[in-house]
Amino acid sequence: MADFKKKIYHQTSFIKSVQNLDQAPPDKGYEIAFVGRSNSGKSSSINSLCDQKSLARTSRTPGRTQLINFFEVDANRRIVDLPGYGYAAVSQDIKRVWQISLIKYLEERECLKGVILVMDVRHPLKENDIQIIEWSSQSSIPVHILLSKIDKINLHEQKKILQETKNFVDEKNINASVQLFSSLKNWGMSEFDDKMNKWFEF
Ligand code: GDP
Repeated sequence: MADFKKKIYHQTSFIKSVQNLDQAPPDKGYEIAFVGRSNSGKSSSINSLCDQKSLARTSRTPGRTQLINFFEVDANRRIVDLPGYGYAAVSQDIKRVWQISLIKYLEERECLKGVILVMDVRHPLKENDIQIIEWSSQSSIPVHILLSKIDKINLHEQKKILQETKNFVDEKNINASVQLFSSLKNWGMSEFDDKMNKWFEF
């Protein structure tokens, strides 16, 4: 069964890039959105899941940081790679427009089953990350947090940050799960895979 599922993600293909969520594919089936600060390891997590080296980069045009990329797992299931945030170069106006668009997407998108929030384990819970967690919660969208690049710190630090992040979501009474992850080493892949399968109802 596990091999069968792996093959499904391996077949994931790029559908399209859009600038505005109004141009998203029809609101049908299942969608899982990936969010995170730029350089958090978001693209790498999608590529690891799908066992493809450059899937989440194929559509990336330098300088066009605000594009939203859609990938098709199968006819009914999509992965959405939302723009990485934290770019100093992006103007306040553009940031505000994007925030409004993201809130609307979280509130209105019927097919959205969950949000994968990728945070570099060394820089967790920045302001924008917390906003995403809160907005998702307000829209009753579950969040799964990948604390990424854990190969860069030792086991003791990993456990400490995992616990602190879990405490944060518990205190806020938010529907979020948290795990340690490394795309480089493929650590945490089965937990990540299980969450995706659950939300996609595989
Ligand atoms: P994105 O901007 O959030 O999509 O991040 P990327 O996936 O492009 O990764 C940003 C940088 O971090 C790249 O240089 C990756 O090679 C590196 N990176 C991503 N995941 C890992 C990981 O698990 N471990 C290590 N050591 N580096 C990683």
